Amino acid sequence: MSDDRILEFGSAKAGPGEKGTGFVKVGELSDGSPVNMPVIILNGKNPGPKLLIVALEDGDEYPGALGGLDACNNVLPDMLDKMNGSVLFLPAVMIDSFRGNPYGGGTRNSALDIDQGARPRSPGNPYGKYGQQLGYKVHQVEKEYDPDAIVKFHGCKQMYGIDVIWCWSAPPGSAHDNYWRSGITDPDKMIILGHSAEDRARRGLPPLPDRPLTMNLESNGGEGGIGNGFSGDSMRDSLLNVMRHLKMIPGEEIKSKNIRYVNYIGGVGPGGKMHSAGIQTTRGGFFTPLVDIMDPVKEGQTIGLVKNFFGEVVEEIKSPIDGFCKSYYCEAPHIGSGQWRVFALAKVIEVR
Ligand SMILES: [Zn+2]
Repeated sequence: MSDDRILEFGSAKAGPGEKGTGFVKVGELSDGSPVNMPVIILNGKNPGPKLLIVALEDGDEYPGALGGLDACNNVLPDMLDKMNGSVLFLPAVMIDSFRGNPYGGGTRNSALDIDQGARPRSPGNPYGKYGQQLGYKVHQVEKEYDPDAIVKFHGCKQMYGIDVIWCWSAPPGSAHDNYWRSGITDPDKMIILGHSAEDRARRGLPPLPDRPLTMNLESNGGEGGIGNGFSGDSMRDSLLNVMRHLKMIPGEEIKSKNIRYVNYIGGVGPGGKMHSAGIQTTRGGFFTPLVDIMDPVKEGQTIGLVKNFFGEVVEEIKSPIDGFCKSYYCEAPHIGSGQWRVFALAKVIEVR
């Protein structure tokens, strides 16, 4: 068939108005058995935008994958007759991390790459480590599909926190800014976390390309946090609203007001300078946060404690900024020195 509206990736294939499922081979295990990555295609009956959705680039960040699967398996198949354009969903890019140990439960990085920490980032390397080869293969799929818009689902089981859209900020009213705003359906539970346009210029980065529009959705939520833990609901709702924004599915786009645009300021880096990653501690022991998610913090305020086995405080964690608590570590009650992002703090730069 020569219909260029038939989409085919690996063993998944779908013509207009159809859903297709299958796998793309992305590697081989030591016994020669294939590493297959699942693929879901939703091909709308009518032509329109091409939306690529990517989840589990980090193998233990479940909410986005779950939200995307809910949308692509339970909501969108009933809309294919009215859908404009297509969705290509890669729900578990780091498939072997998703498998985790033989008894289940995912790991962040691939066991095939565990010592090397390579992640499947574009454009990858066809001759690199496993994660780089995977990145290359995923990039080939992306190039072939040539999407108009991308949604990347990340999230974190290690943190309590507020859901975020991670982006480079773009001028208000621009295509990128409107696209990112469409990902927020509840401004109380989500923020846009970006670097300012000036920041972008200072780093010598080129202007954002018109397409593909790209959005990184992060769910930092855990039970007790503002986010959604293992529930993918807010990610699903964001995705469906993004599709309304792109006029791919019927329905009025939810246009949220009072969205908080924040700068992401984590902790103190080399030489005591402010650093854009999380706050790490230098001591090990039991960790107690002293602030809740979204609580304001003042520069110099003690926001957490590390205590040893004997109840003695070995480290007071201080905020380096005036801002608020975006997320904190929750995977275990104890941490070692240098534990990744014991706190992530942010500062609201604009509300609109
Ligand atoms: Zn991630």
